Amino acid sequence: MNEPRNRARKVTRKAGPPEATEQQPVFQAPSDAPANGGGNDAPAERDGGNNGNNGGNGRGGRDGGNGNNGNGGNNNRGGNARGGRGGEDRDNNKGNGNGGGSNRNRRRRGRGGNGGGQGGGRRNPMKSMQGADLTKRLPAPSKPAKDTLRIYALGGISEIGRNMTVFEYNGRLLIVDCGVLFPNSDEPGVDLVLPDFGPIENKLDKIDALVVTHGHEDHIGAIPWLLKLRSDIPIYSSKFTNALIKAKTQEHRQRPKLNDVNTDSEVTVGPFRLRFWHVNHSIPECLGVSIKTGAGHVVMTGDVKVDQTPYDGKPTDIPALARLGDEGIDLFMCDSTNATVPGISASEAGIEETLTRLVSNARQRVVIASFASNVARVQMAINAAVSNNRKVAFNGRSMLRNMEIAEKMNLLKAPKGTIIPIEEAAKMAPHKTVLITTGTQGEPMAALSRMSRREHRQITIHDGDTIILSSSLIPGNEEAVFAVINNLAQIGANVITNAEAHVHASGHGYAGELLALYNAARPRNAMPVHGEWRHMRANKELAISTGVKPNNTALAQNGVVVDMHKGNIKVAGQYQVGQLYVDGTTMGDVDPDVLADRTSLASGGVVSITCVVDDSTGRLLEAPQVSTTGYSDDDRDFNKKVVEGVEAVMGDLAAEGENDPFRMVQQIRRKVSRAIEQNYKRQPVILPTVVPMSSDNHIASEDEIASTRESR
Ligand SMILES: [Zn+2]
Repeated sequence: MNEPRNRARKVTRKAGPPEATEQQPVFQAPSDAPANGGGNDAPAERDGGNNGNNGGNGRGGRDGGNGNNGNGGNNNRGGNARGGRGGEDRDNNKGNGNGGGSNRNRRRRGRGGNGGGQGGGRRNPMKSMQGADLTKRLPAPSKPAKDTLRIYALGGISEIGRNMTVFEYNGRLLIVDCGVLFPNSDEPGVDLVLPDFGPIENKLDKIDALVVTHGHEDHIGAIPWLLKLRSDIPIYSSKFTNALIKAKTQEHRQRPKLNDVNTDSEVTVGPFRLRFWHVNHSIPECLGVSIKTGAGHVVMTGDVKVDQTPYDGKPTDIPALARLGDEGIDLFMCDSTNATVPGISASEAGIEETLTRLVSNARQRVVIASFASNVARVQMAINAAVSNNRKVAFNGRSMLRNMEIAEKMNLLKAPKGTIIPIEEAAKMAPHKTVLITTGTQGEPMAALSRMSRREHRQITIHDGDTIILSSSLIPGNEEAVFAVINNLAQIGANVITNAEAHVHASGHGYAGELLALYNAARPRNAMPVHGEWRHMRANKELAISTGVKPNNTALAQNGVVVDMHKGNIKVAGQYQVGQLYVDGTTMGDVDPDVLADRTSLASGGVVSITCVVDDSTGRLLEAPQVSTTGYSDDDRDFNKKVVEGVEAVMGDLAAEGENDPFRMVQQIRRKVSRAIEQNYKRQPVILPTVVPMSSDNHIASEDEIASTRESR
């Protein structure tokens, strides 16, 4: 029999140690009246080490509406099993890579809750959080006092992607954004990572609205999965974002309740009064959000940059933010993505001129790769083509879909007859067309990758063709992207990236831009969002440098609960929040242990061992059968060694009188694993099976009996 797993089957939460609930919490939940009499001014800052938080994987920005396109999964080269990224740009976020180990972190964290705790009711619990080790779990929050706004993220804080923030006021819920994260290489087979809906699962009927700031995948991608839990949640967003949501939910045969809003809208849903302000990013019609309740005034930026010369002529509306600031902003939640980068990001201005020049210099085919949601950039590419008398063909499913939507909404313009189908472009002289394609992140199934491998059905790249990557390189995709570039270079194509010419600008503001936002908002409290830890910390320092009191900043990773009452914030505890995986068509059915097994399978293969034993004595009735898959193509010598090892283990067990197959399986697994690791430095998955048989029924050959004896 195989060893039964006594592990929880339905664990979908990476971060939440199941055993944590039984442990003495490190911090006591704050009492209503802090012991030091400090009133509600108790600082909400929580500082200290942050090792072991999950997330932090350097996964990239998401492509608006990239949908399932290119979810290459395991087909990816180089073991980098992500697929289908694309997306919104995040420059300069190099050098992260917490990558593996999330599963392990989870377990480690589970043991982290000892010590402390005692006397927590005496001291000010908020003070105790300063300098605390954030890898330790806070207790679950107690029920909020009346008229308290409770704020917690189910994704997007301490990681980049799957943004989802919940606001809870007097029992009613408002959600802002509902995005996905694309899986890391230690999550093989997983298609998407969703925010953890766990903390709101039994409050779905209390949700008054879902507000969506913009149409990137890391803000809208999980909406179909939330709607599967409750289909009639009213959604509020800009017209373009709603169009993308509509297209996405149609793929799931859903018809969500979409409500268009704009910067003039004032919407009251339940106890939440909502207004919107224009922010500039890398996709049309992005909204910042103002949320007023009896607890105070919250303003969110969403993803933002402060480009003073944006392509569409609509910069981030700093005057509007300043007017909200005049009303008084109690809590400002600002994008952290590029907070670590000093100065001001490059403007979109000038990119069109560069593209036009590059197209004009090209004698042959030109391919421009861009994020499929960056309508402004595609417009520039079209203009560059038109001014050089070239036709334009789109390639890539998400590019075609998004540009169709953008064209219908008048956000994309081209002279009649400019845009032609790719089939037509393929028949034309190469110097008469510009192809605009997806695949900037080296997604193996995307058009650009296929062209680079000469596997594209219509288009063949030749020596001397020009390929422009009008995009950033999202950390983690380096291997895939450089493989594409090298393949193109091998063919002889001239590949131009942001390193060679001004063909891209980030959609996320650098530190200097965030400072401008803080100065316009003049918030009382600040809570950095959308970023990994280093980005959040940098963002916090920016807030402090503009006058926000250090004690009025909250670094609240996913699940950490911040309560706001009368404009004061404090950390109130933590919900268990992990990853919700989509694997094929099922949501939430992937156990972290399954992922660990998949990873070992991929790196070490499988060694399966079958032992037939006498059910009364536990002795081997025949030589163990050993076979391997994915271990080595010549495994005869190895198998012989394993057989010898198993025989020795079984001999010892029989001598001890052991005849419980379960314990036999455990021992075989343990000892064989250790021996293989010591002798071969490999860690395959070991699958022992012990078959107990009555020796009376077993007709053993002379050889089998002999071999069993010999082994002892
Ligand atoms: Zn975005």
